[in-house]
Amino acid sequence: MAVIKIHDKYFKPYISEERLNKYIENLVIQVKEDLDPNEVPIFIGILNGCFMFVSDFVKKFDRPCEVSFVKLASYEGTTSTGKIKHLVGINEGLKGRTIIILEDIIDTGNTLTEIYNIFKDKQVKELKIVTLFFKPDVFKKELPIDYIGKSIPDKFIVGYGLDYNGLGRNLTSIYQLTDKKMKNIVLFGPPGAGKGTQADRLKDKFDLKHISTGDVFRYNIKNNTDLGVLAKSFMDKGDLVPDEVTIKMLKEEVERFPDANGFIFDGFPRTISQAEALDAFLEDKGESISGMVALEVPEDLLVERLLERGKTSGRPDDQDETKIRNRFNEYETKTAVLKDYYQNQNKYFGVNGVGSIEEITDRLSEVFNKL
Ligand code: AMP
Repeated sequence: MAVIKIHDKYFKPYISEERLNKYIENLVIQVKEDLDPNEVPIFIGILNGCFMFVSDFVKKFDRPCEVSFVKLASYEGTTSTGKIKHLVGINEGLKGRTIIILEDIIDTGNTLTEIYNIFKDKQVKELKIVTLFFKPDVFKKELPIDYIGKSIPDKFIVGYGLDYNGLGRNLTSIYQLTDKKMKNIVLFGPPGAGKGTQADRLKDKFDLKHISTGDVFRYNIKNNTDLGVLAKSFMDKGDLVPDEVTIKMLKEEVERFPDANGFIFDGFPRTISQAEALDAFLEDKGESISGMVALEVPEDLLVERLLERGKTSGRPDDQDETKIRNRFNEYETKTAVLKDYYQNQNKYFGVNGVGSIEEITDRLSEVFNKL
């Protein structure tokens, strides 16, 4: 399921394993670039949250290195300052060595300050800080952070080593606390599956914004905009409009509705790079796709429906069987793989798209309710 419950709170998927992997790969590349290849660094993970990150990081670091872990413990001091922090497990012999701290997340920077204080008199050659996540909005210190995997807004996250009151560390991807559940649904299916008809009904029922990339293109064609002129040549043949154009347009559409409860994406994404761009775009907003809901309809029935629609829709790409077949071909070769993309994130929900319009709305609503 898309949303999970930990203790009393709900968390929604935020950053997938694939994206985490990319951030870590980038960090490793940067760290290696700045390091003398003959230097054997000591990587030090700050427990507990860092264990998954350190593991994945050092697996990708294909040069000799040492790996160690420390834990920052606080105890009630006798001084007036109250809490005193110290590192448990710090090994000696750091003198003259290059120390690279691996942190899972830096928010206020309090832990980081402690670390700096502790390493100050260890006579290390160099001290560098790598953090997988960084919250720029709450970081209040002047301290340098050498490498940042990903800056995120100040929202509570769990998974991939990070916990909420002890739980959630074993999740393999990052989840984010959610109070208001934004529904962002990719309504999926081949041309003629009934996405447009169903989206129209579901947007009212669930108070969501419906974005149909096909409709936006057609609107632009009708109004003879630059985008319309560009898109027309592709659409008329039943080809996909190039990704850069489509992605830019989609983002602009989403930005028009900052207060939406969520979106029904209809006809988008249609390629893997569109799906990746959408994930990255939503992630930057602290949001994510709740699920892909796919209408499953046999091809013969689809052609029949499209030719029927062509009689009244006025769409050139509906009236000619070769163009229709080409759209199916585009679907099979570029779009159908998206099922795997979302299935890998446990976000794929197939729905039987054969039946009356009402019946299908009911089936879809059942899934929408769960997301
Ligand atoms: P639709 O109305 O969804 O069937 O889309 C009609 C046509 O618009 C498609 O055949 C494409 O030429 C173009 N189009 C719509 N959405 C996209 C997309 N996400 N990527 C590329 N082309 C698209």
